[in-house]
Amino acid sequence: MKRLPIKIKIALLFTLLMAAVVSAAMFALLSVGERMVVGATQNDLIDAVAEGRSEIEYEHGDLDFDDDLKYYENGVSLSVYNAAGQLLYGRQPAGLRPSELPLSHAEMRIAGESPRSYYIYDMEYQQEGYGALWIRGALPTDSTDTAFAALMRLTAVILPLLIVIGAAGSYFAASRALAPVRKIAQTAEEITAGGDLSKRIALGEGKDEIYSLAATFDRMMGRLQGAFEKERRFTSDASHELRTPASVIISQCEYALDNAGSQEDLRAALESVLEQARQMSSLIAHLLSFARADAGGMEMGDEAVDLSGLASSVAEQAAELAASKSIRVEADIEGGLLIRGDETLLIRMMWNLLENSIKYGRQGGVARFALRRENGWIVGEVRDDGIGIAPEHIEKIWERFYRVDESRSGGGFGLGLPMVKYIAEAHGGSVSASSWDEGGGGPGSVFVFRLPQKK
Ligand code: ADP
Repeated sequence: MKRLPIKIKIALLFTLLMAAVVSAAMFALLSVGERMVVGATQNDLIDAVAEGRSEIEYEHGDLDFDDDLKYYENGVSLSVYNAAGQLLYGRQPAGLRPSELPLSHAEMRIAGESPRSYYIYDMEYQQEGYGALWIRGALPTDSTDTAFAALMRLTAVILPLLIVIGAAGSYFAASRALAPVRKIAQTAEEITAGGDLSKRIALGEGKDEIYSLAATFDRMMGRLQGAFEKERRFTSDASHELRTPASVIISQCEYALDNAGSQEDLRAALESVLEQARQMSSLIAHLLSFARADAGGMEMGDEAVDLSGLASSVAEQAAELAASKSIRVEADIEGGLLIRGDETLLIRMMWNLLENSIKYGRQGGVARFALRRENGWIVGEVRDDGIGIAPEHIEKIWERFYRVDESRSGGGFGLGLPMVKYIAEAHGGSVSASSWDEGGGGPGSVFVFRLPQKK
C-alpha cells in the first residue's frame, strides 16, 4: 500500500467510499421498492375481489354471474362460495379450498409452499335476496418476485457501472489535483541533479494549498540563491583582497634576496613586508568575525553597558586620530544612557563610524558625534563634512567589500560598515546612512544608529 502512488490511493479511497454509499442507498431503495411492489400486488388482488362483487346478481331465485367476472385474469384466480363454503363459481387452485384454508373476511394471507405460494384475500358480503356470499381471490406470490427480480437485475448492472465511473472520475480528479505536486518534485529533482538554483516551479496564480506551497518553495529558492551568490562573491572578494598583499610580500622578499646590498635596503623591504602582513592579519581577523557572525557563533556579551561613557571615550580617541588631519571632533553626548549588550562590539560600531568620518572627512573640517534618548530609543548620529556619498552608492556601502573609491579608502577593506550594521542589528537596532550634500551646504555624510534602550 505504501508503494502505491498517492493519486491511486486517493482514487481507491474515494471509490471504496462511493461504493459503500451507493450500495447502502441501493439497498435502501430496494427494500422500499420491494415493499411497494408487494403493496401494489396486494392492492390489485383486493381490487379484483371487490370488483367481483358487482358482477354478481340474484334474479328469479338464481345467482347470475356476469361474463365480466373472469375466474382468472391478470394472475388473479377468483372463486365464489356460499356461507357453507360450497364453490358456486370460479376456479380454486389446489390446496386453497375453504375446507383446507378456512374463509376469513378481509384478511391478507399467504398460503401454500413456495414456489407455489399465494396471496389469499377473502371477502364476505350480503347478496340481496340470497344472503351471505364469499369471494376468494388468489394471486401467486411469485408475481411480485418477477417485478422485484427486474429491479435487482437493474441494480446489478447500475451498481458496478456507477463504481467504475466513480473510480475513473476520482482517478482523473486526483491526478489533476496532484499534477502541481509532480511539478514541484520534478523541479526539486532538477535542482538537485543540475545544481541550478535559478530554477523555479512558477505555478502561477492559484489559491489552494499546493499553489502556496509552490510559491513558498520558489521564495525559499530565491533566498537560497541570493545567499549562495553572496557567499560566492564574499569568498572571491576575500581571496582577491588576500592575494594583493601576498604578492607584494613575495615580490619584496625576492627583490631583497636578489638585490638588497645594504642594511637599509633590507630594512625597507622588511618594513614593507611587515605592513602587508599586518594588512593581511587585519583582513583575516575581519573575515573571522564575519564567518563567526554568519555561523551564528559570534560570542555576544549581554552586560549592562554605559553607552554614554563608551561614546565619550571613543570620541576622545577619535579626536587624537583627527588631529593629524586638523579635523575637529565635536561630541554632544547625553549622560546616563544605559543599554544591555556587548561592550567590545558597541565600541567597535561607534569607532568604525567615527573613523570613517575622519577618513572621508575634509582637511580642517569637523566631525560631530551626538548621542541622545528619543522615544525609548538611543539614537547616535555621526556627521561629517567630507566627500559625501553619491546616491547610487548609498545602499551598496553596507555590502561586504564595497568601496566607493578604492584609492580613497586608505587601505580599508569595505568591511567596516557591514560590521556596524551587523552589530546594530544584533542589538535589536538599525543603522542608516545619508549624504547631506543635496542642500548645497557642502558635501558630507551622516550615519544614524538606533538601539533599543534596555534596563
Ligand atoms: P572602508 O574600510 O573602505 O572604509 P567601510 O565599510 O567602512 O569600508 O565603508 C565602505 C565605503 O563607504 C567606503 O569605502 C567609503 O567609500 C564609503 N564611506 C563610508 N563612510 C563614509 C563617510 N563618512 N563619508 C564618505 N564615504 C564613506
